[in-house]
Amino acid sequence: MYKLKLFWMSLRKKRHIIYLLGVIIIFSVLIFLVYNFENENENIDEEEIPNKIKKPVEKKDEFYKVRYPHWDHMPITYKVINPEKCDGRDIEEVKKAFKILENATEGLITFEETEKIPDFELKCVGVGIPKELEDVEECKNIQYNYYKESPNFYKEGYISRFTQKLISSKLIERNENKTTYEICYEYGNYNPMTLVTDEVMPIISKNVIKKAHVNLYLYGGGSRCTVFPTREVHEVLHGFGFAHSLTNEEAARINFALSSGIYSEIPFGEAIEIARDNMYPYFNCAHQLDLDEKYITCLKKIYSNWESEGDCKNVRFL
Ligand SMILES: [Zn+2]
Repeated sequence: MYKLKLFWMSLRKKRHIIYLLGVIIIFSVLIFLVYNFENENENIDEEEIPNKIKKPVEKKDEFYKVRYPHWDHMPITYKVINPEKCDGRDIEEVKKAFKILENATEGLITFEETEKIPDFELKCVGVGIPKELEDVEECKNIQYNYYKESPNFYKEGYISRFTQKLISSKLIERNENKTTYEICYEYGNYNPMTLVTDEVMPIISKNVIKKAHVNLYLYGGGSRCTVFPTREVHEVLHGFGFAHSLTNEEAARINFALSSGIYSEIPFGEAIEIARDNMYPYFNCAHQLDLDEKYITCLKKIYSNWESEGDCKNVRFL
C-alpha cells in the first residue's frame, strides 16, 4: 500500500513535468505562428504598396561603374516622331550615323527602332540657308610671285572652301616680282559648312541619360554631306552626352582662320585639324569625314562598363 502511494506521488511529479513541457510546446507553437503571421503581412505589404518596400527595385544600370553621362541600357531605341515631314533621305542619314557608332564600338552600342516611347526621338525640321549668305558675291585682289609660287586659291586660304565658291579669276598685272589677280567668289546654299543650330540636348539625371532628341534638318539646296553623315553623327554624339569641342567664340576664331587664310594668326592647317572634330560647333563636310578616335575610345570605355582600354580624358561632356 505504501509502495502504491510512492508510485502515485512520483507519477504526480512526472505529471507536473509533462504539464510544464506541454505549456512550453504550446507557447513555442504560438510564437512561431505569430512570427510567421507578421512576416506574411510584411510580404503582402511589399507587394501591394511598392513605396514601403525596404529595398527598392531600381532600374539596373548596366554601366554602373561609369561616372560620365551615359545610357544605362542597350539597345538604345529610336523613333521618327514626324515621318511625314522627312523626305526619307534624312532618316537614312541618321541610320547611317547609328551604324557608324555600332561598328566603331564593335557592337557595344546598338540601336533598335521602336513604336513605343523611344530613347532617341528623331524629328525632321525644315530650316533654310541663312538669308544673309544667299547670293552674296565678293571680289578681292591677291598677289603672289608667279615665277616662284603657284597658289591654289582654296588651298592657300584665299577663299574658304567651306563658305565660298570661286566664280572668276582675272589677271590684273604681272611683272617679274609680282602677279596680281582679282578673284570673285560667292556664298550660297551649296555651302557645306553651316552652324549646327537649335540642338536639343539630352535629359541627364545623376549621370544617366534619360532621353535624347535629334533634329534632322532639311535644306532646300541639298547641302548635306554626301561622303559622311557629318551633321547626323554630331547630333547623335550630343545624344551620348558629348559637348562641343570648342565654345562658339573659340570656333569663331577658327572659322576666321579657315575663311580668311593668310590674314589669320592661326595657320590654316592647324585650323583644319581643330575643325575636323566631330563635335566642332560647325559642321564641315570636307574635313569631318570619320568618327574621331577619341570618341570611339571613350564610348567603348563607357559601354564596356569601364572594362575597355583607354579613357575619356580628351572628350568634353555636357
Ligand atoms: Zn552641336
